[in-house]
Amino acid sequence: MGRIVVLDQNMVNMIAAGEVIERPASAVKELVENRIDAGATKISIAVEDGGRKLISVTDNGCGMDAEDLASAFESHTTSKIHTSDDLRAISTLGFRGEALASIASVTQVKAVSRTAEELSGNCIEIDCGDKSEVTPCSADVGTTIQVRDIFYKLPARRKFLKSANTEITHIIEQVTRIALGNTAIELSLTHNGRDVFRLSAEQGIHARITEMFSPEVADNLLETESDEKGLHITALLGKPSIATTSNRLQYVFLNGRYIRDKFISHAVKEAYRGSIDPSRFPAAFLFIRMPYEDYDVNVHPTKIEVRFYNANLVHSQILACLREKLLATDLDTLARPPRPLSDDGRGMRGEGRGRDSRITEAMEEFFKRHRPAGQRHLDFVDTRYSSLDTRTSIEHQASKFMQIHDSFIIAENDEGFVIIDQHALHERIMYEQLKKRVHESPLESQKLLVPESFQLTRQQQDTLENNSQLIERLGIELVPFGPKTIAIQAFPVLLSKAEPADFLRDVIDLLAEKASTLDADSLFDEVLHMAACKAAIKAGTKLTDGEIEQLIADKETVEHSSNCPHGRPTVIKFTLSELEKQFKRT
Ligand code: ADP
Ligand code: MG
Repeated sequence: MGRIVVLDQNMVNMIAAGEVIERPASAVKELVENRIDAGATKISIAVEDGGRKLISVTDNGCGMDAEDLASAFESHTTSKIHTSDDLRAISTLGFRGEALASIASVTQVKAVSRTAEELSGNCIEIDCGDKSEVTPCSADVGTTIQVRDIFYKLPARRKFLKSANTEITHIIEQVTRIALGNTAIELSLTHNGRDVFRLSAEQGIHARITEMFSPEVADNLLETESDEKGLHITALLGKPSIATTSNRLQYVFLNGRYIRDKFISHAVKEAYRGSIDPSRFPAAFLFIRMPYEDYDVNVHPTKIEVRFYNANLVHSQILACLREKLLATDLDTLARPPRPLSDDGRGMRGEGRGRDSRITEAMEEFFKRHRPAGQRHLDFVDTRYSSLDTRTSIEHQASKFMQIHDSFIIAENDEGFVIIDQHALHERIMYEQLKKRVHESPLESQKLLVPESFQLTRQQQDTLENNSQLIERLGIELVPFGPKTIAIQAFPVLLSKAEPADFLRDVIDLLAEKASTLDADSLFDEVLHMAACKAAIKAGTKLTDGEIEQLIADKETVEHSSNCPHGRPTVIKFTLSELEKQFKRT
């Protein structure tokens, strides 16, 4: 190794740029955030060639005088903090004083700025850290910064830039975050002279979401708010129907700053547990306000992560706020009306045809054959476990229903009718009942007339031993029955529809697979999911009127009844008004 030298400032900036300026989108983020800090109410962004050729940002903020303009591009120069005390409560988006210096060290920059007190502006140009003098020029109040040819003197980094399409996608994502977090600012983005967004300051968050995502997203959001324990939360929660396979529709803003936080993501996931398939991600826009002193933003170079001093409080408040709203909301899936036949007939030929025609057939059959239900005795679920409400709600229940293909139930209600997936709904009911019961005490079991015995491998024996408490909680009683054999002596009443030996084998398999990765609660929950699935009536099972009535009544009394424990819908609703529209009665 050679001798240690002190790097010159430009080298220092280039190294810093490696952290802060990864691609054109990072420059856009820093440039735009500076404008929000400068009090701008209007920001225009123009980029060319995915930002690789040009990024130009103009604002009507406070502007900089000649002296500030000269120092803004030096490293560690900032007007936002002065002492270490200021670091404890940062209210601005920037504070590190590194962004402009980093950008200017890897691009060609031209900046023009004017403050409200001055009659004309000033200009400075920097070429990869090589600064010109500040010269006077004519300008409007505010600042324009043009950034050209990012990384042009750093071929190794330039090579890593992706196509213009990819780079503009990243820029759009950055602008989206800023636009959602700062709805009072007028914002426009153009690419190669064409408008990408033109957002007005008055339009509000719903209109922004419509414009930046889609009307489908904006129309399927539930709004809720909470203000407790120093945490103000406003949330727009996507209904399960707009959940996606990635977290691309999850946005969290902390005092206007877009952040990513694992506690918050976890709270969102937990809130939706049982309402959507666990492999899908709900749409959720969260706007959190809390005192600046309650978290640290100085933990990540691009400030996308923060450290909450009381992360548990943040988690529990968000979970409570979201969960309350989701539980209070009817999340039943609304039927999508059949697409109208287009001129070329394509509307009926696409993938939806089978489903559309099945629905139409089901509807016709329903109207032809609906019949009043006889009040037979209820032998469907053990009524000891149904709440008292069940009986009262049965009396008010819709009296017209029928089962089709021994799998679905069509039932009339006040607003129209619903199609119930009998297995999915019963699975949810079973799951909620199981959960409630085991919460209180081990499941009530019943001695088997003939104990069922079966052989176990060494591994299966180990798994059983390691999870003996869990088996006990389930209400399964086992006795040894020879060296490698056990017998099931008692089995839970609630699971009477399941085969004891099959069920136990599946439980052992599940435990063997998941016991090492899940905590005790989640593991038990998985077992309950499985139990619910096994114990629920299957598709293809003929039900009596009494059983159907019970199922419909139970839907009203259990939580999360709109979705099965895997998150799939249990019912699809058809409204009268939609039917009337489809049949051209209105
Ligand atoms: P930071 O934002 O962390 O302070 P920057 O390097 O991004 O650091 O900017 C340095 C300084 O330049 C800012 O503190 C601010 O005073 C000034 N500045 C940057 N952009 C603008 C702008 N658009 N309008 C007014 N002042 C600006
Ligand atoms: Mg900044």
